[in-house]
Amino acid sequence: MDDRLHRPLRDLRISLTDRCNFRCTYCMPKEIFGPGFRFLGRNEVLSFEEIERLARVFAGLGVTKIRLTGGEPLLRRNADQLVARLAGIDGIEDLTMTTNGSLLPQRAQALADAGLTRVTVSLDSVDDATFQAMNDVDFPVARVLEGIDAAVAAGLGPVKVNAVVKRGVNDDGIEALAARFRGTGVILRFIEFMDVGSTNGWRLDDVVSAQEIVDRIGATWPLEPVDRTSPGDVATRWRYRDGAGEIGVIASVTQPFCGACTRARISAEGKLYTCLFAAQGHDLRELIRSGVDDATLDERIRAIWTRRTDRYSDLRTAETTGRPKVEMSHIGG
Ligand code: SAM
Ligand code: SF4
Ligand code: SF4
Repeated sequence: MDDRLHRPLRDLRISLTDRCNFRCTYCMPKEIFGPGFRFLGRNEVLSFEEIERLARVFAGLGVTKIRLTGGEPLLRRNADQLVARLAGIDGIEDLTMTTNGSLLPQRAQALADAGLTRVTVSLDSVDDATFQAMNDVDFPVARVLEGIDAAVAAGLGPVKVNAVVKRGVNDDGIEALAARFRGTGVILRFIEFMDVGSTNGWRLDDVVSAQEIVDRIGATWPLEPVDRTSPGDVATRWRYRDGAGEIGVIASVTQPFCGACTRARISAEGKLYTCLFAAQGHDLRELIRSGVDDATLDERIRAIWTRRTDRYSDLRTAETTGRPKVEMSHIGG
């Protein structure tokens, strides 16, 4: 099943909650996501039964990879029970999660036992002052590192670490991050700061390009390119010439990859988004709760995907960056 630009549907990102225990300045700035912010209520988020049902329909349409995200997915109680449900779906080969790592020390083993294949942990700096300023809740680096260790020990590997780089904020820590994870088996990936949502005050000047990141790391530890593993892989991979492992860069701004985008996203309240930068989603929750059968769900999703023409990053211009867009904490990156 291809969209209008000949892209099949292969990956599904499911947001388990719009809540988070961090307030990363580039994602959920405190001024907006403060005490007065209205998060989704209990009944507004999809139940585990509803998520499982949707995941089955998506698997039937060609999805082989599912990533759980948020908000912070581990704030959703009993997330491991959902993992166990999803791990049992035919056709799902890869079941992963993106998390800020804060709750992994207690939860990694249960997630692995339930059938989670791998985990990606977000960590933007190994310098405490910088990291605490970025998460804006004074969360220490050491506890995220403990979470990463717990994930490795539970067999949720190879563990990936995602670092968003923002100029003047954490770009002075690129080499220190590389030094921390070289030779550990953990794959560090740098992400260009993106203009998702409308609240993070994005400016092109704040973006540190993937090329600059690779050049800087390569100047200290020479790098060579690695072939992409799969066409839908968004990271460009580089390996240390001295054998200390590899890094990835996700150049969503400077080298967009819309042509290979095989990904759909479901927000915590059950809206289907066919692009990270979409202004609006398609309400699947209402459809499910109205009592339709699986064949109708299948047909509806098929109709949405086959009409898809999204290629926001390919087109990114001053005009498009100013448009209203869904918030990152709503659909989980
Ligand atoms: N809370 C979890 C976490 O932080 O890993 C999962 C959700 S978070 C929205 C998913 C990923 O999106 C994180 O790696 C985060 O760093 C990234 N992200 C958030 N806002 C971003 C932005 N403006 N540009 C690039 N990446 C961003
Ligand atoms: Fe929370 Fe993740 Fe957004 Fe940070 S990036 S505020 S941890 S959802
Ligand atoms: Fe996919 Fe939209 Fe990102 Fe392009 S901008 S890669 S279509 S999510």
